[in-house]
Amino acid sequence: MAEMFEPEFLAVIKGIILEKIIPGSFSAAQIDDALEKARIVNELDVVQLLQKQDTLCSKCGCCCRICTPIAIKKDELSQISNYLSYPLRKMRRDLNITTKNGQIFDMYQSPCFFLSKDNVCMVYSFRPFVCRGFPATHMITEGLEKSRPTVPAYLVVICKAVQAWYAQRVIGRLISSDLPSLKLHGYDK
Ligand code: SF4
Ligand code: SF4
Repeated sequence: MAEMFEPEFLAVIKGIILEKIIPGSFSAAQIDDALEKARIVNELDVVQLLQKQDTLCSKCGCCCRICTPIAIKKDELSQISNYLSYPLRKMRRDLNITTKNGQIFDMYQSPCFFLSKDNVCMVYSFRPFVCRGFPATHMITEGLEKSRPTVPAYLVVICKAVQAWYAQRVIGRLISSDLPSLKLHGYDK
């Protein structure tokens, strides 16, 4: 998957970075080097994304449209059912919600049934944990599965919060590199 999105991944981030850098400030090789180095993440990096993601999120609703299935815990499902006065059994049938163990449920409807046309989550106060933590929690899960966690390419492609966070990481690396001239808009402090 990462290989498939690689050119698009780089194009998205380079586009953001070039918007912030006056042409000629850094060589293409320096930008490529910073891109690659910023891609390696640890848990602290992901925690920093978790802290920032609410302000970085553009509310585009992309995650609610394409992430499937959405895992919902039993108590979360009951809360949503009560909140919407939507009988649990009917909701499970209508929304194609299945479970293997009776504790964690998978909702396969995509886009998410709870997303309004205006990109508003209709169950926001009761949204599942996976939604509250997106995108940082996705990165933690992926990181645990890899010995050398990296910023997942598909997240950069779909999520503006990840794009902004990753671009800031790259720009931070460029700034901290020992360069004579620094010509950045908004990232020079
Ligand atoms: S429950 Fe809300 S936040 Fe979660 S995917 Fe559905 S619309 Fe999005
Ligand atoms: S895809 Fe990212 S930017 Fe868009 S709503 Fe989801 S978290 Fe926010």
